[in-house]
Amino acid sequence: MKKLPIVAIIGRPNVGKSTLVNRLTGSRNAIVHDEAGITRDRLYEPSFWRDRDFLVVDTGGIVFDDDSEFLPEIRQQAMLALSEAVAAIFVVDGQTGPTASDEEIAEWLRQQSVPVFLAVNKCESPEQGLIQAAEFWELGLGEPYPVSGIHGSGTGDLLDAVYPCFPPVEELPEADEEQINVTIIGRPNVGKSSLLNALTGVSRSIVSSISGTTRDAIDLEIEHQGQRYRLIDTAGIRKKKNIRYGAEFFSINRAFKAIRRSDVVLLVIDALESITDQDMKLAGRIEDEGKAAIIVVNKWDALEKDSHTIYEYEKMLRDRVYFMHWSPIIFVSALTGKRVKSIFDLIQTVAQEHRRRVSTAVINEVIQEATAWYSPPTTRQGKQGRIYYGTQVSSQPPTIALFVNDPKRFNDPYRRYIDRQFREQLGFQGTPLRLIWRGKR
Ligand code: GDP
Ligand code: GDP
Repeated sequence: MKKLPIVAIIGRPNVGKSTLVNRLTGSRNAIVHDEAGITRDRLYEPSFWRDRDFLVVDTGGIVFDDDSEFLPEIRQQAMLALSEAVAAIFVVDGQTGPTASDEEIAEWLRQQSVPVFLAVNKCESPEQGLIQAAEFWELGLGEPYPVSGIHGSGTGDLLDAVYPCFPPVEELPEADEEQINVTIIGRPNVGKSSLLNALTGVSRSIVSSISGTTRDAIDLEIEHQGQRYRLIDTAGIRKKKNIRYGAEFFSINRAFKAIRRSDVVLLVIDALESITDQDMKLAGRIEDEGKAAIIVVNKWDALEKDSHTIYEYEKMLRDRVYFMHWSPIIFVSALTGKRVKSIFDLIQTVAQEHRRRVSTAVINEVIQEATAWYSPPTTRQGKQGRIYYGTQVSSQPPTIALFVNDPKRFNDPYRRYIDRQFREQLGFQGTPLRLIWRGKR
């Protein structure tokens, strides 16, 4: 299943937002999105226009307080809805004409990056409606669309305007959470095929063996302790067919493609070899693509060890692949099968962390704690950074937006400090964590 694009409905109270939402979705039964965190308190209603499905979310009525600042919670609601949306529909009341409050919301909307469509509601009569709608050109949001939430008139033209904002279906992310897609990558001869065999060997049943969409990889569907996995193997294909080739051609692009298709990447390292630039390149790509990952040190059986070896090895690895500091490391032997089963447990853990959502309340607790210990920096002009609040805007990988007075006031050391605080307080083991610093405007 694909995740559906979201259209946010925004406007002051009583302009007819709920009536319009009902009209657009044709449903009285709002479905409550049951994902934890930011989406908990808003209603997403399914709708479609032409060949496309989408969700409509009503942000609740936006109002300003007397200082013409958003009330914090309301601003937060609106920000949240906008951050997830592919388009916003700004609803105004055609019978009352533009109000000061409409202008303030419009000004704020003009500064957002999401495309905004202006719906002038309560325009029941076609001729009268056009005249009413024309008054709203002054909001500076482009063409006002006269609509009637009660009658449904004009909503087709409105949706036609929104339609180009929907991303192509093939670019929508998959929402299948039942299966974990796992890729095994690494340089030639580190033991990828052996590991794949070991993993499938201990699992209950091989559901199917599917050749990939291209011949770049073989996909294996397996089940282990009730969990389905799709293993994407980038090396095994020719070996399975028992075709003798010379030294394996190391295709980094093939590995990159496989990384993109996966939820969790197993980066296999040969304990007998040193870490090379190729390993670093693969690791860098995992981080860039925002995938969960586990570093699997293979051939641990073949290494001469004493009681310090594992710590020394881990330290060396952490020093070299420092940018994957969030990734767990496991030492295994594909040959003897030692600790291979534990890989499944780790995959489950990191996949869960990758999808995890943390409530806005908890995130703001971390921010308050962090800024109390160590205040944001002050620029040479004496201007201090302020973090108003933060919220998780997406998962896979977890992404937290921080709304601040001015991102330029936050230097790298401070950003790293905040990043560390989130890691320490919230965990997110095995997944990259993204922080987005957003200015007030
Ligand atoms: P919200 O607070 O923005 O969600 O607004 P509601 O949907 O609750 O509507 C507020 C009031 O406007 C209600 O009394 C509705 O009956 C009325 N209303 C909503 N849509 C229309 C419309 O298209 N035409 C007219 N004439 N009234 C409308
Ligand atoms: P790939 O090219 O990454 O798929 O690596 P292979 O799975 O083909 O393994 C390359 C070589 O390493 C083979 O000779 C394997 O037998 C050997 N090998 C793989 N895993 C282990 C292991 O855990 N311990 C030892 N000692 N050898 C291994």
